[in-house]
Amino acid sequence: MNSIQEQLNALREELREHNYNYYVLDNATISDYEFDMKLKELQELEAKHPEFHDPNSPTLRVGGTITKNFNTIPHEYRMYSLENSYSKEDLLDWEKRIEKILGVESVEFTCELKYDGASMNLTYENGVLIKAVTRGDGFQGDEVTNNIKTIKTVPLRLKGDFPPKFDIRGEIILPLDGFKKMNEERLANGEDLYMNPRNTASGSLKLQDSSEVAKRPLECLLYSLKGEKLPISTQFESLEKARSWGFKVPTVAKVAKNVDEILAFVNYWEANRHELEYEIDGVVIKVNNLQHQDELGYTAKAPRWAMAYKFKAEQVSTVLNEITYQVGRTGAITPVANLEPVLLAGTTVKRASLHNADQIAKLDIRERDTVFVEKGGEIIPKIVGVNLELRPADSTPTQYRTTCPECGTPLERKEGEAQHYCPNVSGCNPQIVGRIQHFISRKAMDIEGLGGETVALLVNEGLIANYADLYELTKEQVIPLERMAEKSAENLVNGIEASKKIPFERVLYALGIRYVGETVAKKLAKHYKSIDALMNASSNDLVNVDEIGVKIAESVALFFAEDANLETINRLKQYGVQLEFSAEQLEGLTETLLGKSFVVSGVFEKVSRNELKKLIENNGGKVSSSISSKTSYVIAGDKMGPSKREKAEKLNITILTEDAFLSMI
Ligand code: AMP
Ligand code: ZN
Repeated sequence: MNSIQEQLNALREELREHNYNYYVLDNATISDYEFDMKLKELQELEAKHPEFHDPNSPTLRVGGTITKNFNTIPHEYRMYSLENSYSKEDLLDWEKRIEKILGVESVEFTCELKYDGASMNLTYENGVLIKAVTRGDGFQGDEVTNNIKTIKTVPLRLKGDFPPKFDIRGEIILPLDGFKKMNEERLANGEDLYMNPRNTASGSLKLQDSSEVAKRPLECLLYSLKGEKLPISTQFESLEKARSWGFKVPTVAKVAKNVDEILAFVNYWEANRHELEYEIDGVVIKVNNLQHQDELGYTAKAPRWAMAYKFKAEQVSTVLNEITYQVGRTGAITPVANLEPVLLAGTTVKRASLHNADQIAKLDIRERDTVFVEKGGEIIPKIVGVNLELRPADSTPTQYRTTCPECGTPLERKEGEAQHYCPNVSGCNPQIVGRIQHFISRKAMDIEGLGGETVALLVNEGLIANYADLYELTKEQVIPLERMAEKSAENLVNGIEASKKIPFERVLYALGIRYVGETVAKKLAKHYKSIDALMNASSNDLVNVDEIGVKIAESVALFFAEDANLETINRLKQYGVQLEFSAEQLEGLTETLLGKSFVVSGVFEKVSRNELKKLIENNGGKVSSSISSKTSYVIAGDKMGPSKREKAEKLNITILTEDAFLSMI
């Protein structure tokens, strides 16, 4: 019997309950003062008895840990985006698509609000919060557990009949009231005001000092459970279950039997959204039956079983003062509208993207026009129309620029392309600088100690003209530069040296070949395994690689046809940059399943679904989410959807058990 331990447990339990009553149920049973006294008592007891430390004690709510660097952690289940819809027709199309795939007459939906904040994945094991990870790129995010523990609506310990292990997703939001108070305080202190609740919420997650996070009235609203063998069969049930385990799950969600019922929910909330304590930007509709969800699967970006219905964006009108032109790292020209500053959805807007010449011509946008500006999901607002009544009498149509604003070279536009380009690849400053900036960026070579501004400085000082030049920079050359010192110059040179260890697929992405983004670079690297093999591939070979289209293939071939590029690559090779898969990367990779396409369905015993998918890809196979005549095998686990099975049988596709698949490789 350990009385101190018992005392601690009792106090923690009591405080947890009060926290829950106050923040989740909004129904306090003791005064703030009493609560503070009890919390203090617990803090003192814990300070005296560090041997009974509890990483999930309610005292952690006040924060105090400092995180200098947030670790990047892969998500066990990818965090997808949502597809958007804007009309009844969109919804009807979607409903039809779903019913066709499932082979059923009608499906049921859950309608939820689309909370406007920052998405978060929480992992619980045995009822205890283990980690909290931001969405990041969907595959991996930043671990922000200590900061999340300060958010009072995030339970640190669960109640009721929770499963032993699961992930739960939600949105970290800042209620409007709390946001207003934060800004009032800043105003009183003479500080700049926060722009809007959403940005402030997502900015809070990455604060280094968790006690700063604790001071912000953030909340976490939950909407989805992920895990193996969870005791739930519908989305609506999962919301109720999560609520019973102590999570804050808004009670407005409704089950809808058809599109009309969905629209009733949408229309109600579009009209009444301002009654909520927090901001929403639409409604999320999900197929209610989880088995159906499983059968529908995912596209490359989003679940087929969910749809966002976006409320109409807020719109304002303002005067377009001038159209200017920006040159990107690929030489692409982007026209920019410089606007008379105007307040829109909580932020001051001064510029808007005009995309390209066609867009300007289509909307007949001219300088001095009064234009309508809208803010959708993107950071940069866009112009959606012109108020012709206010057009000046002497106005003339916009003449698109014919020469590069940076180097004066005549612009080019390839047939079928919307964008104009400056063809002066090796002599146009923003292209030179932009390519090197891309090369060093976080997802590419991630060179520590070197930032975008320093790159511009190095180029302008004539120290480098391409990314290979970086590897010949010396400390002595760098020290005399503005804002450089012995130590920072050393960091820079060390950072460049360290980048020689960056794996091949990221180097390939870093090269900045047009249309070769992260995913394509990974695909190409995996297929060819070395730059030499890739270089020798014709554009015909390239299009035969899975998911590589003509546009990418031509662009790759074009890149390697340039002598200057070949020379740069040769130099990178000499410096020791990774231009092929390492022995380690090659290990475990086979071509056993080459040309075979797999669909994975159900729950598995020995390996998780994600591991299965990895195994397929590492052995040269392809994973797709829906069964078609192109599918070679279906790997079926427990609880495989009946309509999937039926479809596989109809198409005569071999159904493999987990063991059968594992022995295949
Ligand atoms: P988007 O980023 O526009 O593709 O929308 C997807 C995001 O909506 C998700 O990552 C979530 O963060 C967010 N979201 C807000 N409310 C919900 C909800 N009720 N269900 C699913 N996602 C939601
Ligand atoms: Zn140029």
